[in-house]
Amino acid sequence: MARRARLFVVSGPSGVGKGTLVSLLRERLPRLGLTVSATTREPRPGEKDGVSYHFLDDDEFERRVEAGEFLEWAWVHGHRYGTLRSEADRLLSEGRSVVLEIDVQGGMSVRAAHPDAVLVFIEPPSMEELERRLRGRGTEDEASVERRLANARSEMERAGEYDARVVNDDLERAVAELASVIERFETNGGPTNDVCDQARD
Ligand code: 5GP
Repeated sequence: MARRARLFVVSGPSGVGKGTLVSLLRERLPRLGLTVSATTREPRPGEKDGVSYHFLDDDEFERRVEAGEFLEWAWVHGHRYGTLRSEADRLLSEGRSVVLEIDVQGGMSVRAAHPDAVLVFIEPPSMEELERRLRGRGTEDEASVERRLANARSEMERAGEYDARVVNDDLERAVAELASVIERFETNGGPTNDVCDQARD
């Protein structure tokens, strides 16, 4: 069946394992394009500029906002994060579907600008498990963990607005489910047909 290159948004609370899931997804479906977001937060140890993120200072981020260079951008955990239009357009023009790993506000902005975008929400098995993963990661101080947990609660409330939801209980299983959601939406029409409605359940 013919495949259509589409814009996919993958959101979910901090600590849910989106990053790992999306990189495994990319191994499974190498044709998918991933964009490198821009952010004003400081790099974590091991993160490389232009690979993990484009790390920009506030002035440069603002200049790019004013120049209309962002497909979407949002304040997340006290910093600005955004997707550069140039990154998504380049991949789509190559006929590749694009996966944006962005927060819920960003997901909603993408939907408003591109009603055809497919929004997939990654859920933790429980809030307790999410807290355990977030603390176990050891990259955030206590204030940042608290802020991420508070954001997680409000993000989880919007999960119902997404086209599909995947629980990250077991990594292998979750990647397989995410890949099959992507393939279903690429080979079928918009989010109003039967197959897509099944993905909502
Ligand atoms: P982190 O600081 O842990 O790398 O990312 C924090 C949050 O920012 C995550 O929820 C992630 O999805 C979100 N995020 C990363 N890039 C973007 C982006 O380009 N736009 C938006 N709106 N959110 C982003």
